[in-house]
Amino acid sequence: MRKQIAAANWKMNLTLPQAEQLLDTLLAEAAPSGNRQVVFAVPFPYLSMAQQKVQNRSNTFIAAQNCSNRKNGAYTGEVSAEMLQSLDIQYAVLGHSERREYFQESNQLLAEKLNISLEYGIHPIFCCGEPLQVREQGTQNEYVATQLRESLFHLSSLQLLQVVIAYEPIWAIGTGKTASSAQAQEMHAFIRQQLTEKYGEQVSSAVPILYGGSVKASNAAELFNQPDVDGGLVGGASLIADEFKAIIAALK
Ligand code: PEP
Repeated sequence: MRKQIAAANWKMNLTLPQAEQLLDTLLAEAAPSGNRQVVFAVPFPYLSMAQQKVQNRSNTFIAAQNCSNRKNGAYTGEVSAEMLQSLDIQYAVLGHSERREYFQESNQLLAEKLNISLEYGIHPIFCCGEPLQVREQGTQNEYVATQLRESLFHLSSLQLLQVVIAYEPIWAIGTGKTASSAQAQEMHAFIRQQLTEKYGEQVSSAVPILYGGSVKASNAAELFNQPDVDGGLVGGASLIADEFKAIIAALK
């Protein structure tokens, strides 16, 4: 069975003591097993601390929330995939809609970020998803297909097998408005069909596709029980220990 993943996206939240406390609470209470994984995407300054806390645990990993498309050099303020590798970080969230919107990250730039993170052994959690006006026009499939084609589809099958996809409709992120489980399943099945057309059934059936957009304890099980939904990328609710614990427990 595919990996089922509960990924916390802390965004730019929590002080160091708050971050340590949240992690300690969740690590004490949640122990994912089998095909289930928990990933914490923490702010850059907390990567080392968080990595040390999970290093002897199974199925629990730390993610960066971004990484540079450049290898190294005079790029003040950037963090490279090589730096993440040197900290033993396993995942990086790439192409979150907030990065696309506020930091003008294009599909082309994201293709470069995917390449460099894969080069350094970091699994990308590649985010895609349409804004509200696209959903209202009913052209969300074409929109997401373009994101996949322009950022992902140059990868080899072996590379794609290192990627996790997160479908996050922008109108559902941080809005309290969740896609229905039927809407999520429909898009996830569409994404998987795109993967099948490009890479074949064997590869497409192995790639986890997470749903993101106002996942919380009360809706996680229904969303995660859809056949093509392999867990969630969770913002707001991942900052509340009891909420995220319940979301982890809702993994298939
Ligand atoms: C996110 O940050 O990716 C996200 C989905 O946020 P929220 O769960 O708060 O909607």
